[in-house]
Amino acid sequence: MKFCPSCGSGLNYHVPAGDDRHRFVCTACEEIHYVNPRVIVGCVPIHQGRVLLCKRAIEPRLGYWTLPAGFMENGETSLQGAARETWEEARARVTDMQLYRIFDVPHISQVHMFYRCQVQDGAYGVGPESSASGFYAETEIPWDEIAFPVIRETLQEYFADALSGQFPVRVSVIDRRLRSTA
Ligand SMILES: [Zn+2]
Repeated sequence: MKFCPSCGSGLNYHVPAGDDRHRFVCTACEEIHYVNPRVIVGCVPIHQGRVLLCKRAIEPRLGYWTLPAGFMENGETSLQGAARETWEEARARVTDMQLYRIFDVPHISQVHMFYRCQVQDGAYGVGPESSASGFYAETEIPWDEIAFPVIRETLQEYFADALSGQFPVRVSVIDRRLRSTA
């Protein structure tokens, strides 16, 4: 951030009085511009035991498979955002959404949230950010072509949980070391 979003003046980067970390502070209007983590919301959309995956038509990881997910927008709930992304990327309407998985990724200041859900009528399509989409059973998933480690981990856990019919909410941390080896 170089210029104040409020008045357009230059910014300083320092620890404001009473704070304990560096912030962007406007040199003119003195407004403090906080930069906080971003939330990525997505779905694990299910129909008859298969999971809906999308093939990415955009970078990063173009041509690799993923669950529908993306950045949460202002003014929406995490649940609404996950449903919206699933419509945008896979043209699927989802029902019965249940929080399933949270990943904290502190080194890039992100939080990823995934909801388990059902796909209404099993209907889906291909949104503009995807080049293909479809329902996959565990043995049909292109495991070597999954876009991100968090997606692979979520899918593996889902199919393991499906055997027992128990879907506990899990929270874990992705750190640099895991990311570089995954
Ligand atoms: Zn300003």
